[in-house]
Amino acid sequence: MRLVVDMTRCQSYAQCCFLAPDTFTLRGQEALVYDSCPDDAQRDKILQAAAACPVQAILVERLERLENRPAPPPPEEPGGALASPATRAPRAVAGPEDSPRADGRIVIVGASLAGLRAAEAVRREGFAGRLTLIGDEAAEPYDRPPLSKEVLEGLMPVEHTALPRLEALDAEWKLGAAATGLDLAGKRVRLADGEEVGFDRVLITTGTRARPWPDRAEARLDGVLTLRTREDAGRLRERLAARPGRVLVIGGGFTGSEVASACRELDVPVTVVQRGPAPLFAALGGVVGRVAGQIQREHGVHLRTGVTVTALEGDPGGRLRRARLSDGGVVDADVAVVALGALRNVEWLRGSGLAAGEWGVACDAGCRAFDLNGLVTDDVFVAGDVARFPHPMFGFEFLALEHWGNAVAQAEIAAHNMVSGQARRWPHLSVPIFWSIQFGHLIKSAGVSALADEVVLTQGSVEDRSFVAAYGHRGRIVAAVTVNQSKWLEYYQRLIADGAPFPPHDAADKPDGMRPVPAAMPAAVVPWRATEDATLAVTGHQPSEWQAVWRPRTPAAPGPRAVAAPEPEAVEAQERQS
Ligand SMILES: Cc1cc2nc3c(=O)[nH]c(=O)nc-3n(C[C@H](O)[C@H](O)[C@H](O)COP(=O)(O)OP(=O)(O)OC[C@H]3O[C@@H](n4cnc5c(N)ncnc54)[C@H](O)[C@@H]3O)c2cc1C
Ligand code: SF4
Repeated sequence: MRLVVDMTRCQSYAQCCFLAPDTFTLRGQEALVYDSCPDDAQRDKILQAAAACPVQAILVERLERLENRPAPPPPEEPGGALASPATRAPRAVAGPEDSPRADGRIVIVGASLAGLRAAEAVRREGFAGRLTLIGDEAAEPYDRPPLSKEVLEGLMPVEHTALPRLEALDAEWKLGAAATGLDLAGKRVRLADGEEVGFDRVLITTGTRARPWPDRAEARLDGVLTLRTREDAGRLRERLAARPGRVLVIGGGFTGSEVASACRELDVPVTVVQRGPAPLFAALGGVVGRVAGQIQREHGVHLRTGVTVTALEGDPGGRLRRARLSDGGVVDADVAVVALGALRNVEWLRGSGLAAGEWGVACDAGCRAFDLNGLVTDDVFVAGDVARFPHPMFGFEFLALEHWGNAVAQAEIAAHNMVSGQARRWPHLSVPIFWSIQFGHLIKSAGVSALADEVVLTQGSVEDRSFVAAYGHRGRIVAAVTVNQSKWLEYYQRLIADGAPFPPHDAADKPDGMRPVPAAMPAAVVPWRATEDATLAVTGHQPSEWQAVWRPRTPAAPGPRAVAAPEPEAVEAQERQS
């Protein structure tokens, strides 16, 4: 049987670990590890666990036939209870534009998480036409998060990562088939083998690939690896199981940090080289990043910050032997994992007339792609890691989110909009969430911390490695990060959607003298300036209700504020005060 835990929802209550201990284990305070493809003998226990999970985070493969399902309820009227008519964005009224688009042919290019979930959603929504999924990987859709966690540690074979089917899917699959072009006028997708696939509506979910090491000759050295696909994970797992003398991880972002964590779990020596001042710096800033760095060092990672790898060198047999660093240092290593972020898979769209480039494929909040002129198309949709979309909550900044939860949520919005008339369309307005499991800790984030200018510790204790940090932008909360405090994420999610003041007025067990400090984010990522008198908030609890509304700004609580950038030390000082 197959299952997946939606870690954006999981709050680490551990019922599953009690009810199905052979499948689920809680490491440390909150880090859930599990096998996605357990033995069928576990079925009853797993179904019990799924039923008992208080947040319904365990998704088990369901293959009952679509025709046995009752018809879906009619779409609800838009507008959350909190939205006043005066401030609500107008939506089209029912008319000819309202009729569903339940037939024709939908083609989805990119058969992974977003592609699969969108395919399931269009069927769930009553699409009765022809459905085709095109994917260049030969494998059926699989889940990537375990690749840098359970798979590397040898807790789960790589073949167990296949994603569960949440619907019986009447679809035509073209796997191992790369799309090479999109003809918008002729409504056709061109494939590498010359075949052309016609469509009425097309969904682009081609995601990203790992950014390779820039020097091609060095990248070819035996032992230089990246991590994005199942094959990558299988290769790296083999190397780790062979107990290399040292692994070098180039880049201290989430993937790099998770690889380092797996190495230490296996007692393999590892060096992380990070250009910024701390691991996770680009996503979470210097303050929380500093804590991540402390955690790495506590677990025996040889962490080198503020330096870069300038060259990789091999022996005459072409095997990696060492790396040279920008500060003159040398790291002897037989495996190097290049974890320098991702490139968006958009090359196949060149010449299509879509607004696709290294930034991704730009689309509106309803997932409709923009053409090169910035005009929205009506039959071309985008979702997942490859999409770039405006978010009202963050000043209509275009966001490109490489998170599991966004791929699922956006795919469902795209699917709904592909089969709905204009008046019934939904905007993709959810608060972004992601998680990472490293060194036995569960780190979760809601909102967009990269847009913040300040951060404050609102709950828990850094020393205990169990805390919440809230991020603000000009007196408004824009993000929160929890470390082993995932039960709080939903609360902060609501504050972010409401455009609540920063620092939060009513943090439940806030440390005394809560003092915001500069968030120490990388300089280039704060282009947005929130307006001072009013803010755009999002109301509603589910996609059919989401609405952006103007709200007057509530002033931030008066209190002490740091003016310079004492950053990590300030959090520690605040921690000591509490
Ligand atoms: C190692 C790893 C660990 C991760 N861990 C976490 C985590 O802990 N938490 C979290 O929130 N997120 C995590 N993520 C991110 C998450 O997995 C992604 O956000 C998610 O996979 C995005 O799904 P997607 O379908 O949009 O894109 P992808 O998963 O990238 O899928 C795109 C698919 O399209 C295919 N494709 C590309 N070009 C073409 C073409 N021209 N023709 C046909 N097919 C094509 C690709 O091969 C791929 O199969 C992790 C990612 C990785 C790689
Ligand atoms: S929230 Fe659900 S999935 Fe998460 S640990 Fe608890 S029971 Fe398991």
